Amino acid sequence: MTQAIQSFGGDQDRRSWTSAMSRGLSHKCPQCGRGKLFSGYVKTRPTCDACGLDLSGHRADDAPPYITIIIVGHVMIPLALAAKQLFDPPITLQFAIWLPLIILFTWALLPASKGAMIGLQWANRMHGFAGPDADPEADV
Ligand SMILES: [Zn+2]
Repeated sequence: MTQAIQSFGGDQDRRSWTSAMSRGLSHKCPQCGRGKLFSGYVKTRPTCDACGLDLSGHRADDAPPYITIIIVGHVMIPLALAAKQLFDPPITLQFAIWLPLIILFTWALLPASKGAMIGLQWANRMHGFAGPDADPEADV
């Protein structure tokens, strides 16, 4: 345990995963919270404009789409089923309501979940955020 803390630079160098994830949720750099995280919709900037943090080492991969699908599916499908049971609207009205809502919710949630995932990786010094003295074999 002591060795693990020393390899992370000691206790004073701890990173808050809650603030890093909340900064990522708002599309901001997990380290400073000022610079933008994305240069496009979900394209990550190579470095933070405000603090210079190298953002290229993140490995969010497929996690943000999975998180988005789970949340959207668990919120929208029960709402659609409840509306069907309670009001039995015509199918065209259901498509007119639920399809745009699902698209909007997914569009908003995907970059937020990717930002939160990058923030979590930064806070836990995962992948490219491990630092120069990290063990290269630990990231396999
Ligand atoms: Zn920054």
